[in-house]
Amino acid sequence: MPIIINGNDVAREIRYEIKAKVGALQEQRGIIPGLAVILVGKDPASRIYVRRKTEDCEEVGFFSREFKLPENTEEHRLLSIIDELNRDGRIHGILVQLPLPQHINANAIIDAINPRKDVDGFHPYNMGRLFTGDPFHQACTPYGIIELMDRHGIKIEGKNVVIVGRSNIVGKPLAMMLLTRHATVTVCHTRTKNLSEVTRRAEILVAAAGSVEMIKGEMVRDGAVVIDVGINRREDGTLVGDVAFSEVVDKTSYITPVPGGVGPMTRAMLLTNTYNAATRLSSAQ
Ligand code: NAD
Repeated sequence: MPIIINGNDVAREIRYEIKAKVGALQEQRGIIPGLAVILVGKDPASRIYVRRKTEDCEEVGFFSREFKLPENTEEHRLLSIIDELNRDGRIHGILVQLPLPQHINANAIIDAINPRKDVDGFHPYNMGRLFTGDPFHQACTPYGIIELMDRHGIKIEGKNVVIVGRSNIVGKPLAMMLLTRHATVTVCHTRTKNLSEVTRRAEILVAAAGSVEMIKGEMVRDGAVVIDVGINRREDGTLVGDVAFSEVVDKTSYITPVPGGVGPMTRAMLLTNTYNAATRLSSAQ
C-alpha cells in the first residue's frame, strides 16, 4: 500500500520543535529570531503566501516585520529597505516575495540581501555554498523535500533520482542537495528527449515543472517515491499538482499530494532557516 505523505503534519511538527527552541533561545541568550517579509504589488497568490509566513512567525514566537509596497515601487526604494533591514539587529532573515514586477531586477535585489540573512537561500553566496557541498542557507522548497524524505525514513544514498524541472528555486538546488546525499541525479527539462523513458528509471521521481498532471501512470516505475512540487491552479480555483495522482498513486511506495504535500514544508523550512540565522548571526556579533 502506498504511503501518502502528509506535509501538513510534518510542517506542524517542525513548527512545534522550533517554538520550543525559540523559548530556550530567548531564555538562555535573550535572542528572539526576526523575519522581514517584503511584498511588492498585489499578486493574489503572493499576498496569501506572505500572510501565512507572518502567521507562522507569530505561531512560533518570532519577531516579524511585513512590508507591503505598491506595484510601482522603484528599485532604489526596495534596495534602501533591504539596506535598512541588513543593518537591523532585530532582523535575522529577509525574504523578498517573488515574482517581482517586471521593472525591478530580481537578481539585483537578491544580491543586495546580506547572505547571512538570505533565508530563502537564493543569494549566489548561498547557491555557491550549496554547490561546493558546504551549505549555509538552503532554498526552502528543496530543503523541505529532503526533510520530508528524511522524516519518513526514505533512503536517498545510492538511489536513482529524476527531477523534472531545472529552475533556480527548485530543480537545480534540489539536484545539488541530493548529490551531497550521494544520490545519482538526472535533471530533465522541456528539451529532454524521451522523458517517459528517463522518468521510468527513477526510484525517486520529483515533478517540479508547473505543468498540470503531466506525470502519467506509464511514466512511473513500480514502487517509486513520487514527490509532486507543482502548484497549478485550475479555472475553478482548485489546486492541482504536476502528477496525475489517481493514476500514479497505486504504483508508488510513497507519494506527496497537492495540496498538503511539499507546500507546507516550504514555509516550515523558512522558519528553520530564520531560526538558524538568528543563532549564527548572534554568535558572530
Ligand atoms: P519554472 O517555470 O521556473 O521551471 C519549470 C521547469 O520545468 C523548467 O526548468 C522547465 O524546463 C521544466 N518543464 C516545464 N514543463 C516541462 C515539461 N512538459 N517537460 C519537461 N520539463 C518541463 O517553475 P518553478 O518555479 O521551478 O516551479 C515549478 C512548479 O513548482 C510550479 O508549479 C510552482 O508553482 C511549484 N512550486 C511549488 C513550491 C512549493 O512550495 N510547493 C515552491 C516553488 C514552486
